[in-house]
Amino acid sequence: MNHLSTESIAIHAGRHGLTGHAAPLDLSTTFRIDDLAGAVTGIDAMAEGRACEGNPVYSRLHHPTVARFEEAIAALERTEAAVGFGSGMGAITAVLMAAGMRGKHVVAVRPLYGGTDHLLESRLLGLDVTWATADTVAEAIRSDTSLVLAETPANPTLDLVDIRAVVEAAGDVPVMVDSTFASPILQSPATLGARFVVHSATKLIGGHGDAMGGVVACSQADAAALRQMRILTGAVMHPMSGWMLHRGLQTLAARVEWAQRSAIVLAGRLREHAVVERVLYPGYDHAALVGEGRQMRGPGSMLSFVLPSAEAAEAVMKRVQLITPAVSLGSTDSLIQRPAALTHRVVSEEGRRAGGVVPGLLRMSVGLENADDLWRDLEIALG
Ligand SMILES: *Cc1c(COP(=O)(O)O)cnc(C)c1O
Repeated sequence: MNHLSTESIAIHAGRHGLTGHAAPLDLSTTFRIDDLAGAVTGIDAMAEGRACEGNPVYSRLHHPTVARFEEAIAALERTEAAVGFGSGMGAITAVLMAAGMRGKHVVAVRPLYGGTDHLLESRLLGLDVTWATADTVAEAIRSDTSLVLAETPANPTLDLVDIRAVVEAAGDVPVMVDSTFASPILQSPATLGARFVVHSATKLIGGHGDAMGGVVACSQADAAALRQMRILTGAVMHPMSGWMLHRGLQTLAARVEWAQRSAIVLAGRLREHAVVERVLYPGYDHAALVGEGRQMRGPGSMLSFVLPSAEAAEAVMKRVQLITPAVSLGSTDSLIQRPAALTHRVVSEEGRRAGGVVPGLLRMSVGLENADDLWRDLEIALG
């Protein structure tokens, strides 16, 4: 599989040994035990976090349908393993809990997804957090730092973080990159030194807004700790989601490519619009990180733009007809939302300011509609 391009891997990975054409969907919560000794050995191995080799025994320990999706993600992210969770937050929580066993301090580069920011601020997991920018990571590291978190492109400002630079600044400390906005198609953080690559699979990977899940791509050794977290906390991915997310991979490259083409057009036109103060789109800043052979192979399908006020931004959300006013992203239809009021509401005022989440900011997830139709909708909504 390794010699194939990302597009081909996305279509074929996790499909070995099929008797039919589509991967099977197994909804079992438990599995027949016909070989008791084998099941006992299997339970011991899985409790230590090893990948299942025989009988899954019980679906909180392992699920074959979810395992196919995990195998596909590992192949796509060029890592040894991947571990699926019930949601992106479940995945991030597991990475943080596993880090907490090694040290109680983490360094986080803002801006991050609102939920991740809130989880860290809440101290729910007993972790001390130092907020940093990409440039201050090195000085924020302490002897008990067990993880550096970064998100690129960042939510909702589409700020890019130089993954290689953060990995270098982190030294021996593992780096987790939330790569949700790029999807496995546009960037491969593990090849740049990230130890944990996280996706909210709810977004681009599923691609139709109807399946929730999260996944962490990492080494086999790191996956063992994460599987243990999953077994202990029960943050499992439902097999129905695993199946749908795996199916989503088959069209991922085509969807990302198509939506990106429209996003490039829309970002360019928004930039020339009189009431738009600023367009935030990968490559407009940090141009050196975007393009074939660079960190991000293309600018992607997410864009943000700044209007003069919260009122002006909310008026656009109310007036759009074709574009859906909603949070989340990466669906077939285009979505628009105001982060300061919605996704980043839970972030402190100071955190929002530090992250550049201004009141007039609108975030748009470009879908698969015709680009000119989308522009007409936006232009009318902008007034
Ligand atoms: C949505 C999202 C998450 C959280 O994922 P859920 O599946 O909603 O739990 C984490 N990071 C980013 C960048 C996201 O967009």
